Amino acid sequence: MKYIGAHVSAAGGVENAPLRAQEIGATAFALFTKNQKQWESPALTQESIELFKQRCAELGYPPCSILPHDGYLINLGHPAADGLERSRKSFTDEMARCQALGLDRLNFHPGSHLNEISVDECLRRIAESINLALDVTEGVTAVLENTAGQGSNLGFRFEHLAQIISMVEDKSRVGICIDTCHAFAAGYDWAGKPSLFEESIAMTDADVKGAVVLSGYDKIIDALDAIVGLKYLKGMHLNDATKVSGSRVDRHAPLGKGEIGAETFEKLMKDPRLEDIPFILETPEPEIWPEEIALLKGWYGQK
Ligand SMILES: [Zn+2]
Ligand SMILES: [Zn+2]
Repeated sequence: MKYIGAHVSAAGGVENAPLRAQEIGATAFALFTKNQKQWESPALTQESIELFKQRCAELGYPPCSILPHDGYLINLGHPAADGLERSRKSFTDEMARCQALGLDRLNFHPGSHLNEISVDECLRRIAESINLALDVTEGVTAVLENTAGQGSNLGFRFEHLAQIISMVEDKSRVGICIDTCHAFAAGYDWAGKPSLFEESIAMTDADVKGAVVLSGYDKIIDALDAIVGLKYLKGMHLNDATKVSGSRVDRHAPLGKGEIGAETFEKLMKDPRLEDIPFILETPEPEIWPEEIALLKGWYGQK
């Protein structure tokens, strides 16, 4: 089963998210469980938690169809002790919120080295941050999202994700989410002519901006499987891209209205290797989400 939806607003309380998902014909949704632009948010009330669970059950959203996203301030690979401590505390709180809501996964951006520590050291810190959060929570998988590679953000190469996972102690509670726009911006050219997949592609800061890393839909999925493993895939973000592949610039576009093109999204929906995960739109025109969801469902063969 492919669960298909969008990142909906949780304004007025998390319990409103499943209602908004249903309004747009979604069978999946993403949400923030707290204000994504602030460090602190009030705790979820028992009333809010119960209503959220009740509505998800009534409207048919099992935990595997819901992909919460953490806040934007968190940097689990922070080079400074205080920034790292604050991020770890906030991330653990986000994991605990998901646990309280009965959710089984939390999507987050790996972290940034801010040009103060090496890539390897930053990846090590991220893994340690995940280990610490997993130690004090239960039942929630930490889901690393690949990035576009803007600034000093890591996670723009599949190898980064694999390296972090290799250092996570409980492999049953770590996963990945692939954002199609981020991957494209990072040099994975979905719609391009198939190129050779070389496992030895360098993954250093010397990665040249503008370079296409890998080209062709099947090559990219095969590389993801070989480098990370598709068993770790816990969700996808479906976004077209306004900038060319390799730009390292993260600008989402509606499906079929960007550089990736509709065909890639049709392939994703028809790919039998990608099942039982939420597919989430983060496209910039929420007013056309019902149409985009209908289009995706059509390709998948679902009404
Ligand atoms: Zn994200
Ligand atoms: Zn995303």
